[in-house]
Amino acid sequence: MHYQIIPHDPFAHLFRVKCVIDNPNPDGQIVSLPSWIPGSYMLREFAKNIVSLRASSAGQEVAVEKQDKSTWQCAPCQATLEIEYDVYAWDLSVRSAHLDQTHAYFNGTSVFLQVHGKESESYTVEILPPPDSVAADWSVATSLSLDGAELWGFGQYKADDYDDLIDHPVEIGHFDVLSFEAGGVPHDLVLSGHYRADTARIVQDVKKICDTHVEMFGKLPPMARYLFLVWIVGDGYGGLEHRSSTSLLVSRADLPKPGEAEVSDSYRQFLGLCSHEYFHTWNVKRIKPEAFMPYRLNAESYTQQLWAFEGITSYYDDLGLVRSACVDAATYLKALAETTTRVLRGRGRFKQTVAESSFDAWTKFYRQDENAPNAIVSYYTKGSLIALALDLHIREQTNGEQSLDDLMRQLWREYGEPAIGVPEKRIEQMASVLAGVDLTNFFIRYLYGLEDPPLEDLLSSVGVEYFIRPAASVDDKGGTPTEKALETLAVRPDLGLRHKVDNGALRVSHVFEEGAAIQSGIAAGDILIALDGVKLTSANITELLSRYAVGEQVNIHLFRGDLLLVVETVLQSPPADTVELRLMESPSPDQLARRQAWLGQ
Ligand code: ZN
Repeated sequence: MHYQIIPHDPFAHLFRVKCVIDNPNPDGQIVSLPSWIPGSYMLREFAKNIVSLRASSAGQEVAVEKQDKSTWQCAPCQATLEIEYDVYAWDLSVRSAHLDQTHAYFNGTSVFLQVHGKESESYTVEILPPPDSVAADWSVATSLSLDGAELWGFGQYKADDYDDLIDHPVEIGHFDVLSFEAGGVPHDLVLSGHYRADTARIVQDVKKICDTHVEMFGKLPPMARYLFLVWIVGDGYGGLEHRSSTSLLVSRADLPKPGEAEVSDSYRQFLGLCSHEYFHTWNVKRIKPEAFMPYRLNAESYTQQLWAFEGITSYYDDLGLVRSACVDAATYLKALAETTTRVLRGRGRFKQTVAESSFDAWTKFYRQDENAPNAIVSYYTKGSLIALALDLHIREQTNGEQSLDDLMRQLWREYGEPAIGVPEKRIEQMASVLAGVDLTNFFIRYLYGLEDPPLEDLLSSVGVEYFIRPAASVDDKGGTPTEKALETLAVRPDLGLRHKVDNGALRVSHVFEEGAAIQSGIAAGDILIALDGVKLTSANITELLSRYAVGEQVNIHLFRGDLLLVVETVLQSPPADTVELRLMESPSPDQLARRQAWLGQ
């Protein structure tokens, strides 16, 4: 099986792809394009971007008939079948493909047709330079195996099978390469886009994170090299894991300034993203739910286990930063407190369990609307709190002899390394055995039920104090101590909504269940105009509200569409949903020892 791909027309954002099938199905070859990309659980119908497709054999045109939205059937032919098509690539994300005069980027799921019946055959891929001279000195970055091409060069690459072919994103353009080694394997950070940053610091920190994860699992899965493809833009955030690489989309302001020593919140977030995707090299790329073995890329694949594959990974992403000494314990606790605050601010956690959130990821988590905070819970954030609770619970039950680290190593040995899918509920059984106690009730309450894990008690066992209070301001994300007294916070009048500034206007983005806004008839999308006759702006809303007391009624003028409405709103006290975590000043020797073991210090 052979593919050829050319960034054919950067100005029109078109890749030209040729698929050569030596022994096509004599009854008529069927081909299709995946509807989703592994790691991002939403049908994206990549075939919609194929703008022209034609087939030929021995110089004769072969008729092609569309079977469904993503599938084509070619007329029977005896000789080699060639299918040529153009793919429109203008998606600024790590999930599909993007092409202009500055670079080319693609995932195999967006450009390589699945040739039915040939999925287990080996593939060669010729990556050719664009015909245009604007891109004369572009290079190629991909973890696809070399098959004649030189490292960073155009030419021929290869893949073991279709699954391998579509699991190595490709970046083509001008980029910088920062190299290091981890687990005995060469690693490269490929930085594309405009930036000015302390690259020596980035490579040093990312290496420490990689070393920490390799050390925990014992070894890196077999691979020739590992690539971080980092695409740097003005405003962007996202990552997608692959078997021996990851694609990251980051904002240039997230990278550390030259000469800067502190860990800014945004740099911590960048390192957390690198840590997250690298941890996936084991957890989800090799330790996989049974439902993903093999991936069925034409329809949704349902599993209740994403709390383990995304939640546990989210738990270890920030934990990896403190264990690798990229951040100190206090900074880690700040990140953990922010995550906890995000979970507590969603009332959807009283409607949807984390197991349900995983199962319905396709239609709910990945398709969030304005009502999401009231209706759904995140298997990432609440999943990471369940992972934390499980880790601390296992440590407590076994006097520190066992931990979630041991569970992950066991999963790697029993499922990841031999490439066996993890059956539903199996991780829960393994955790019970490891802890030496039946954890069925733990999972019934926090994973299959609507309860919050008992973090205050569990964190106390590792010498961490848990405080919960109302937010000090609309910008308060938790994690940071406030100078305001608790009594002051509890009586701050609250509207129970979130807004954003839209062309200078205050547009309501979410109204929270049982809050003042929803009870008075304010809806998401409304534009707030005035409070008791005074014009509302993002600059004065907090100040205006602070003149009122909880329980007082205010008149709010708003536009819904082009209609003016006025509603009477009774101000409420803000919910206690903001968490701070602090290291205990005088922990017992037991608490201190457990904390050091947990944080790897
Ligand atoms: Zn993830």
